[in-house]
Amino acid sequence: MMETLILKTDENSLSSAKKILEEGGLVAFPTETVYGLGANAFDGEAVKKIYEVKGRPQDNPLIVHVHKDYDIERIVCDIPQYARSLAQKFMPGPLTMVFKSRGAVSPIVSCGLDTVGVRVPSHPDAQKFLKYVDLPIAAPSANISKHVSPVTAGHVYADFAGRIPLILDGGKCTGGIESTVLDCTGEIPCVLRSGLVTREMIAEVAGDCNVFVPKAGEKVRSPGMKYKHYSPNCLTMLFSYAERSRAAEEYARQRAEGVKAYVMCDESLAAALEKDVPSEHILNLGRSGEEIAANLYYKLREGESVADLIIAVAPEKQDGVMVGVMNRLTKACGGDKA
Ligand code: AMP
Ligand code: MG
Repeated sequence: MMETLILKTDENSLSSAKKILEEGGLVAFPTETVYGLGANAFDGEAVKKIYEVKGRPQDNPLIVHVHKDYDIERIVCDIPQYARSLAQKFMPGPLTMVFKSRGAVSPIVSCGLDTVGVRVPSHPDAQKFLKYVDLPIAAPSANISKHVSPVTAGHVYADFAGRIPLILDGGKCTGGIESTVLDCTGEIPCVLRSGLVTREMIAEVAGDCNVFVPKAGEKVRSPGMKYKHYSPNCLTMLFSYAERSRAAEEYARQRAEGVKAYVMCDESLAAALEKDVPSEHILNLGRSGEEIAANLYYKLREGESVADLIIAVAPEKQDGVMVGVMNRLTKACGGDKA
């Protein structure tokens, strides 16, 4: 066991972070989406440690994070014109773009794929960190594999205390769900994982944008999407918006049996359910799509600390940012637990 420090991002912690990374260790750092668990992307042995510490499946590639002035062509090649326009608009930001690899970063980063996902996070501490170390940093979310992604330094600590030396603390993440992953190797960009940069936003800049829908028997293109994910350490149920009164009945039934049941829903549903579910038993996700995204993992982590059972009810609105939110909510609380 090692000591795990949580430090504000300053000259002192950044110089420790740089030393740890140069020696092949791991550093957790904040981004605007979720916290990342980073290693020097050039160092295969260091990258392997990420998989070990997380218990992450060996075929689930990592995203490479760089600062905004880093020339990504040192890492990837064949960047189409539409991707340059997208980078202008959305980088720094919650968009990961997948390009053909130049073979510069360790092949372990991409699990042997010939592509690399690159992201320029906008969180000021992430920028400071990436600039200071001046290395491409391979990083997945800083949680034990399949657990809820972390949106505070405390969440990272809860999963990795004693297993990693340093967590840079940048407060609560404002984005709240992982980046949009966009395949930029084809003529038309293709969303592999939805997030805060929506298909519509991409299509507006790139002219068009596809969404990858896995078909039975087809090879998974964003390997992480096939796993159970984002799951709190308690029982969960997911009801559609149309089934909201059944959710309230289920809450009453479970409470009557002595189960610590909590209802997770958006603000308007919380108000509608007021007479059936007291507000202290509601994990309120907030109002807008952006607010719901920002609160989702925070509330799932809060939920698992108090509840035996989280009864989630999907918001009525399902478009835009909610596509990404529903994807996470379904994997956290619903079926699809393959
Ligand atoms: P995480 O940061 O834990 O959300 O994991 C990163 C996710 O990005 C993975 O689960 C993959 O689905 C996706 N990803 C990263 N690199 C690639 C790539 N080269 N090709 C396709 N998807 C990728
Ligand atoms: Mg993850």
